[in-house]
Amino acid sequence: MPDAGLLPIDPGARRAILGAVDSLADDATALLAQLVRHRSLLGEEAGCLDAMAAAFAGLGLGLAPRRVPVHVDRLAGMSGFSPPLMSYAGRDNVAAVHRPRQRQGRSLMLQGHVDVVPEGAADLWATPPFEPDIRGGRLYGRGAGDMKAGLVSIVMACAALRRAGLQPAAELQLAAVIEEECTGNGALAVMHALPRPDACLIPEPGPGFPALYVAEVGVVWAWVTITGRPAHVRDMQAGVNAIEAAYVLMERFRAYEDAMNRAERRHPAFAGDNHPINVNFGTLTGGEWNSSVATRARLGVRVGVMPGHSCHDVRTEIEALVAQAADDPRLRGARLGVEFKGFMADGCVFPRDQPIAQAVTATHRAVTGTELRHYSATGLTDARFYTLYGGTQATCYGPDAENIHGIDESVGLDAVHDVTRVLALTIAGWCGLEAA
Ligand SMILES: [Zn+2]
Repeated sequence: MPDAGLLPIDPGARRAILGAVDSLADDATALLAQLVRHRSLLGEEAGCLDAMAAAFAGLGLGLAPRRVPVHVDRLAGMSGFSPPLMSYAGRDNVAAVHRPRQRQGRSLMLQGHVDVVPEGAADLWATPPFEPDIRGGRLYGRGAGDMKAGLVSIVMACAALRRAGLQPAAELQLAAVIEEECTGNGALAVMHALPRPDACLIPEPGPGFPALYVAEVGVVWAWVTITGRPAHVRDMQAGVNAIEAAYVLMERFRAYEDAMNRAERRHPAFAGDNHPINVNFGTLTGGEWNSSVATRARLGVRVGVMPGHSCHDVRTEIEALVAQAADDPRLRGARLGVEFKGFMADGCVFPRDQPIAQAVTATHRAVTGTELRHYSATGLTDARFYTLYGGTQATCYGPDAENIHGIDESVGLDAVHDVTRVLALTIAGWCGLEAA
């Protein structure tokens, strides 16, 4: 496989590596099930992080996993930092670095996140969200696709090299991080704690077909607090209902979303997508009593950011939007306050001709006989840090997942297997190989 600047892989070694991935298929499914059983919601990642540390340590590559804390005081001034939602105590990321005896190829970071989003209404799931279930060749469970399957592919790709009696002939960094789903500060901390790799590859799930990420939007999280005027419901007109005021605010956000999606605002990477910028009302809490006019409500909003448009500009636009909404006569004097916690993230383009993109594309073609398609994601990943602030290249390529962030999330086990094979041979061609 001489294209994409990959080092040639001896045919015998290639056969041995692919055979080893096959022989590890049951282990891969077992590890995926184990990881899904960890209910690694925000703030509850410790068990899953321990499992990943054990998986890295068990690879036989002599890896000594280390903990990488998120030091807010050190990171707060760094580009890409997002305002935290909670303390980082007891939630250290896990990283492990393999060093070769004799360096031949280029270094590589393989990274995944352990955090998952809430399961939503668990009663809507066919099987409980944190009890993995296999049906029709798919493993179901929250986080199965996004992105515990990717973590499994990383571990199993390395395990296969080792089983074939080989190891990477360049530095290979492995990391399992927190908070991909709300800040990215876990990945930011790891990036600054390790030497700069020649590339970063993240097996985030694809869009339902084999794909390579070539762009992603940014995201800003805003929290709007609405304070009305309470009254007994018999004098309802004397009060100002904070929950009803939230509806006026939502209209303003929808108008903003329409403006942001206009064709002339679209980055070329999103030319084929007529609605890349999504504004989501993720949480709405408020009110005190069914027979009292609601005094206070809080709206949690996620706003997409077009590449080329700064997240800090979007923040300013949201502040202006909220200030203008406060003057809407229908609010009748309700007070609005906005704060920004969670994502403050720029969009990003992952060049389709960068070497790591070519390497993954060529390896996917060689392994599966199919062409990768290009994917411009309307959500974000941790890959942005390496591209925007890490001075290196990055992209995402991962298994076929369905219903991520939804009900009955699942991942195709055949796709996990394919991605593992591609990762193993990408490591081999990118880093080179030496005897273990
Ligand atoms: Zn993810």
